[in-house]
Amino acid sequence: MQDVDSRLPMILLQDQYGRTKRKLRISVTDRCNFKCVYCMPEHPEWMNKKDLLGFESLFYFCDFMVQSGIENIRITGGEPLMRHGIVHFIQDLQSLRSKGLKRISMTTNAHYLAKYAHDLKRAGLDDLNISLDSLDPAQFFQLTQKNIQPVLEGIAAAKQAGLPFKINTVLIKGKNESQILALVHWAKAQSVPLRFIEFMPLDGDQHWTQADVVSEQDILDVLATQFQIQELKQAHEPARLYRLNGTYDVGIISTITHSFCGECDRIRLTAQGELYNCLFATQGLKLKPILDQLVQQNDQEVHQHLQQRLSEQTTAYIWRKAKGFHSIDRQHRKISMHMIGG
Ligand code: SAM
Ligand code: SF4
Ligand code: SF4
Repeated sequence: MQDVDSRLPMILLQDQYGRTKRKLRISVTDRCNFKCVYCMPEHPEWMNKKDLLGFESLFYFCDFMVQSGIENIRITGGEPLMRHGIVHFIQDLQSLRSKGLKRISMTTNAHYLAKYAHDLKRAGLDDLNISLDSLDPAQFFQLTQKNIQPVLEGIAAAKQAGLPFKINTVLIKGKNESQILALVHWAKAQSVPLRFIEFMPLDGDQHWTQADVVSEQDILDVLATQFQIQELKQAHEPARLYRLNGTYDVGIISTITHSFCGECDRIRLTAQGELYNCLFATQGLKLKPILDQLVQQNDQEVHQHLQQRLSEQTTAYIWRKAKGFHSIDRQHRKISMHMIGG
């Protein structure tokens, strides 16, 4: 396999609004064993396995991006623990730390986590985001079509393995806003970080309406019934933090009512190897063909030429990133959350 030629110019990670990209999210599969109402289409059409970007090409891309300035890589899906070889891939990524990679994270539904937590820790994963939308078993089943028990076991295993994690909860009107206080009490009791996420128009069947969104203000109104709330100064994170009774911080990610697009430092790669400069981009950049050629090419000159092309195309695509959520025609978004992964 050919290595990235670091003598060639890398890509510029800046967009037309001056935002520098530091975070890369890679979806390693569109498949998932859950069917979350806010994410999966009723009849998902999984991509053909032969269209998946292979680990060699994916590693080449990660190497190339880290040498260009990416500091954090998050592995997501679909459900990333359903991709065979994922632990090994995380092990491989360790070699990029000496080139500037600072953090390797994963977002998971935790269903298979009990089996993998120790291996992930050993492979060098830094931390996890775990999705958990309800503590009520019946409601959890309604939301995901799966049982909660393996997820709770996965969370216990992450703790045991010493893998730091945050809990992410998507709230939907009329479905699980009743869980706001229950989840806060549960997370607070275990000193686990918790973040609520506003439902975004990224569901597979495009049923989203504004009326389904439990807004940041709705969440604060519920919290105010039991807690004194102090807003903390926003760090360079999408979540706004609120201190409850001076003792526990809860985060709220409110793309709909308080978008953080002005500071967006993310880009995303789908499992098919298509780059997206924004969750709502109407056009991606297909990189699989060129990445596959790059890892197979043994001729030094051809390799250099291809890398130059990869560099130019990627730089231009990132530069064209739109201003953000409110400036994009979301009717024409190309992808849904299970394809690009949060
Ligand atoms: N399967 C893994 C999981 O659920 O954690 C990783 C992929 S999932 C697409 C990544 C994150 O996106 C999850 O935290 C999920 O709750 C969130 N998500 C999915 N659809 C969403 C939507 N329509 N609005 C907001 N967040 C969403
Ligand atoms: Fe699967 Fe994650 Fe989407 Fe739920 S949110 S359906 S667990 S990909
Ligand atoms: Fe970044 Fe696009 Fe999400 Fe805004 S909507 S935070 S620009 S990915």
